[in-house]
Amino acid sequence: MMNEPLDSADAQVQAAIQRELERERADVELIASENYVSRAVMEAMGSCLTNKYAEGLPGKRYYGGCEAVDVAEDLARERAKELFGCEWVNVQPHSGASANAAVYLTLLEPGDTFLGLDLSHGGHLTHGSPVNFSGITYHAIHYRVRKDGPQAGRIDMDEVRAKALEHRPKMISIGASAYPRDFDYEAFRAIADEIGAFLWMDMAHTAGLIAKGLLRDPLPLCDVVSTTTHKTLRGPRGGMLLLGRDTENRLGKVAAKSGRTKMMSELLDAAVFPGCQGGPLMHVIASKAVAFGEALKPEFETYGRQVIANAKAMAEAFCERGYDLVSGGTDNHLILVDLRNKGVSGKKAERLLGAAGITVNKNMVPYDDRSPMVTSGIRLGAAAMTTRGFNEDDFRAIVDLIDRLIAKPDDDATTQEVKGAVAEILRAHPLYDF
Ligand SMILES: *Cc1c(COP(=O)(O)O)cnc(C)c1O
Repeated sequence: MMNEPLDSADAQVQAAIQRELERERADVELIASENYVSRAVMEAMGSCLTNKYAEGLPGKRYYGGCEAVDVAEDLARERAKELFGCEWVNVQPHSGASANAAVYLTLLEPGDTFLGLDLSHGGHLTHGSPVNFSGITYHAIHYRVRKDGPQAGRIDMDEVRAKALEHRPKMISIGASAYPRDFDYEAFRAIADEIGAFLWMDMAHTAGLIAKGLLRDPLPLCDVVSTTTHKTLRGPRGGMLLLGRDTENRLGKVAAKSGRTKMMSELLDAAVFPGCQGGPLMHVIASKAVAFGEALKPEFETYGRQVIANAKAMAEAFCERGYDLVSGGTDNHLILVDLRNKGVSGKKAERLLGAAGITVNKNMVPYDDRSPMVTSGIRLGAAAMTTRGFNEDDFRAIVDLIDRLIAKPDDDATTQEVKGAVAEILRAHPLYDF
C-alpha cells in the first residue's frame, strides 16, 4: 500500500483529479483570484513534508527532526523578505483568512471597532462580514466607493475619514477582492494617524504585482500586511504576514503607550501559532519557497507587466462594446463589469459563459440592487490566462466572444459556436505536459 501510485490505489480520486486537469485545460480561466502553479511548485506540495509536525519557528520547534523542514521554511522566509523588501515575515498561515485571523487577534480585543471596505463594494468576507468571525467577534464599520462623478467606483476617502473620526476605530483595513484600482496609502496613513489607529493592508489579490513594483508598495506605510500566496503571486494555496522596514519602530511607540512590551513581530508570530493554528503545513511552506524563488526572477516582472497590459486590453475591449466597468477601467489584474445596461444578471452571465468554456464569477457591483446570489456584475481577472501565455490580442478575442454570448443569452447555437472558438484559441496555449 505504501508504494502504490494513486491511479491504482484510488481510481475514484485519481479520476476526479484527471477531470479537474481536463477542465483546467479546456476552459478560459478568468476567475480573478485563480492562477496556475508551475510543476515545481506542485511537486513540493505533493512531498513527504506533509508528514512532519513542526510547531514553532525554524530553530525553535516543539518537535525533533525539524532540520530539513527548517531549511525549507528559512528559504521561504528569506526569499519572501527579498521579494517584498521587508524585515519580517511569517509564512505559516494556512490561508489568507488564517493570516487575517492572526492580524485581528494581535491588534484587537473582542468587541473593538475597526473600519474596512464594504463587501458589496469589493471588500473581503474577513473584513467584517456579519457571517465571518471578523464581523461576529469585532464591531465592523464600513467605507464604500463613490457612486457618482469622475471618481465613481473609487474608494471615497472623505467617507473613510468621516467614519474614522465618528467611530474612532482601533484599526483601519485596506485591501479588497474586487477592486480594480490601486490604493492611496498616504491618505489612509494620515487618517489612521489622526485617530491613532492601526493600519492593515490585505494584499491577497495583488501581492504578485506589488512584489515587482507594478503597484504602490503598502509596506512602508502600513503597520501590518497580510496576503495569500496563490493569487497573482502564483504559489500554492496559502497565506503570509509581513512587516515593513520601519514598522517595528513606529509600533514600538504605540505598544509602549498601551503597556505592551513585546515587538509586533513576536505578537504576530504568537497569533499565528499557538493563537490561530496548530502545526504548519511544511509541504506548502516548501512550495511557497519554490514559488517565491520563481517570483524573484526577472521573468516574473515580465509576467506581471503582461497581466496588467492584458487586464487593460480587456477593459478597453469591453468599453468599446458599450459595457459599463466599475471605475471605468483598471490599474491591476482585474475588472468588474456592471451588466445592468445589458439586461443580464451576474448569475445568468456566469452560467452562460461557463457553458461556453469561459469561467468567471458573478460579483456584486457597488450600489447593486440584486442579492449576492444573483448580482449585477461579473469579475474577470487576467492572472491565470497570462500564465498560460495569453497576450492582449487573445484577451480582446475573448471579450468579443463574451459579448456575443451576452448579446444572445438564450441562443444555444451561439453558445456552441463560442465554445468552438474558445477551444480553438486554447489549442495554441497548452497547459502542463504531464
Ligand atoms: C482571497 C482573499 C482572502 C482569503 O484568502 P483565502 O486563502 O481564501 O482564505 C483574504 N482577503 C482578501 C482581500 C482576499 O481577496
